[in-house]
Amino acid sequence: MDQVFRTRFAPSPTGYLHIGHAYSALTAYEAAIKADGQMLLRIEDIDTGRSRPEFEAAITEDLDWLGIAWSGNIRRQSEHFDDYKHTLDKLDELGLLYPCFCTRKEIALEVENSANAPHGPEGYLYPGICKSLNRSEIASLNECGKPFALRFNLERAVKFIKAKDEWPLRWFDMEEREFTAEPELLGDVVLARKDTPTSYHLAVVHDDHAQAITHVIRGQDLVHSTHIHRLLQAILGYDPPHYHHHKLITDKVGEKLAKSHNARTIRSYREKGARPGELRKMLGFI
Ligand code: GLU
Repeated sequence: MDQVFRTRFAPSPTGYLHIGHAYSALTAYEAAIKADGQMLLRIEDIDTGRSRPEFEAAITEDLDWLGIAWSGNIRRQSEHFDDYKHTLDKLDELGLLYPCFCTRKEIALEVENSANAPHGPEGYLYPGICKSLNRSEIASLNECGKPFALRFNLERAVKFIKAKDEWPLRWFDMEEREFTAEPELLGDVVLARKDTPTSYHLAVVHDDHAQAITHVIRGQDLVHSTHIHRLLQAILGYDPPHYHHHKLITDKVGEKLAKSHNARTIRSYREKGARPGELRKMLGFI
């Protein structure tokens, strides 16, 4: 039997949805309808300091207004910190994590002072300051109560996959085009933040698997993250979903409506009397 097509819309409730979110949600929803599948709604609220219940309420209200219906219950990432911890423990047991005590400022300074600091498509990569800390150095930093994040040791992770003879890693898009993972593009990313026992990368890979997502549909701005996600999936033994990275909505789109409504949130279009059909049409959906 063919697998059910299942995608998701996964906003963070840290503000009101804007037209870029509307485009993303409509792309996922229309794809699910076309495939006679499902679109789930996931609230990515691991940033408990910035996430607010009123923004989640606004998300569901705006989706209702746009005529977008999700299947099943809403999944909230903040209700699954134990699952992320469990996943982190697995990576830790494999020796693929290391604590990083650096502040953003320290990292920026190191990059500035180094002639050949590694750079990727999204800017500089973590220059590895804490990668070689030994046990006693880690212990004394811990004793001082210095907060730390947990970073992904890419070098070891790739070695681990090579030893299993699974390298190179690949994924497919919705047109069955093949892509090869280049996880080094983002370097040793953070998998558990100082303030939250997970990170976007870890939680999203975990949840796409837990929710049996077959097709991840999201903006082009996240395409580099997919390289890291593919590596995490291979280590954790998860099947990769198909990916579609859609175009980003530039400020040009919506200019016409925005001129009269003067803001980019769905809410502001609604408040100024725009119709759902108008917004859909503007974004290229009938
Ligand atoms: N929470 C992310 C955002 O709001 C989306 C992540 C994803 O779709 O993988 O941009």
